[in-house]
Amino acid sequence: MKAEMIAVGTELLLGQIVNTNAQYLSQQLALLGVDVYYQTVVGDNADRLRHTIEVARSRSNVILFTGGLGPTMDDITKDVLAELLGSELYHDEDALTQMEKMFAGRGTPMVESNKRQALVIEGADVLPNRTGLAIGNAIVHEGVAYIVLPGPPREMKPMFAEQVIPWMKDNGLLDASTLYTRMLKFAGVGESSLEDALRDLIEAQGDTTIATYAKEGEVLVRLATKSDDAALAASKLGEVETEITNRLGQHLYAAEDVSMNEVLVNHLIQHQMTLSAAESCTGGLFAEMMTSVPGSSQVFLGGAVTYSNEMKERILGVPHELLEGESAPGAVSSEAAKAMVEGMQDIADTDFTVAITGVAGPGHSERKPVGLVYIAIGEKGKDTHVEELRLSGDRDTIRIRTVNAVMYRLWR
Ligand code: ATP
Ligand code: MG
Repeated sequence: MKAEMIAVGTELLLGQIVNTNAQYLSQQLALLGVDVYYQTVVGDNADRLRHTIEVARSRSNVILFTGGLGPTMDDITKDVLAELLGSELYHDEDALTQMEKMFAGRGTPMVESNKRQALVIEGADVLPNRTGLAIGNAIVHEGVAYIVLPGPPREMKPMFAEQVIPWMKDNGLLDASTLYTRMLKFAGVGESSLEDALRDLIEAQGDTTIATYAKEGEVLVRLATKSDDAALAASKLGEVETEITNRLGQHLYAAEDVSMNEVLVNHLIQHQMTLSAAESCTGGLFAEMMTSVPGSSQVFLGGAVTYSNEMKERILGVPHELLEGESAPGAVSSEAAKAMVEGMQDIADTDFTVAITGVAGPGHSERKPVGLVYIAIGEKGKDTHVEELRLSGDRDTIRIRTVNAVMYRLWR
């Protein structure tokens, strides 16, 4: 099965939006064992779109389109495709009814052009849109499958997962054997040391593949095996997972695709522990990571962004002599991190308190190097733990890595 993708939209060509749909669809199709050989981006132009489709159908069995299904005259994907297939377009009654209801509910009138979003190519199957208005279309014509999806990712993704995959199966476009995968997520270990620890397994890998990916402050290991027997696949994956866990278990924070902040918040909820934070160079990113997890209000009680020295003094009571003066350690120091944590502990009285102070760059401060960060973790009734980190990367990377390092230490 040879597949390709066509993203339609002049905004993509102008670089105003990034073609994340291609990334998503490529990843999904790879998981399904479908080979993707081409990705094309074309503007909202009928001649060029027609030409693109003609080229695509001469070399691929499956063509996935995204974009150009909207109500306006520059949304032409279905029109151009219908014309090429020699088919008419008609309005899908269910989609029209749903659309009318939605407009009535909003109290806004539905204009004639909205009806374009309910168009179907004669002979095509309708892919309803649960999260938007424009319906998708899927049709096999002269041995080539055309799958037309809306541009907005929040509409395209559920449509792909819920409707395109079953449609491809029904039309014999997917292998009977399925790719089974498992994601293992590690923190507190670098990609190269992780790879070193698994080298013999990676080198000897057979039909269960092991791939490692580094992300900011974490390493992902993806195990995959293709099989038409789910139980057999599970046992093969389980065997490799057990071996990896035996070697690196202390760094394994999740055996599924969840993020560190979710794991940490759920861990704290389970243990009924509370948390607060005093942040300088991360400017509230830690608090953002915590509060973005549903249920975090049970554990994350609050914090302070004390960016200037003055705020560190006034809010957290960090001594002036510690921050400024000839021989003062300065705001980026283990002493300041410790004083920040203690100041925050006094205010918040939480089980755990963290403080973060460092140089995120691009310029250095207090003549200290970019990437130098101090993190302090205070636990009720115990000594404060302060650690110096030397991180690399640009400003954003350093901030994210810092927060990840703090989360990892709290979780462990
Ligand atoms: P609409 O009904 O919203 O007009 P549409 O199917 O006509 O949807 P477009 O007009 O091409 O789609 O794009 C609408 C929006 O969807 C874009 O502004 C962009 O935010 C997003 N989008 C479109 N194509 C892509 C893509 N390839 N990758 C990521 N986002 C995209
Ligand atoms: Mg549009």
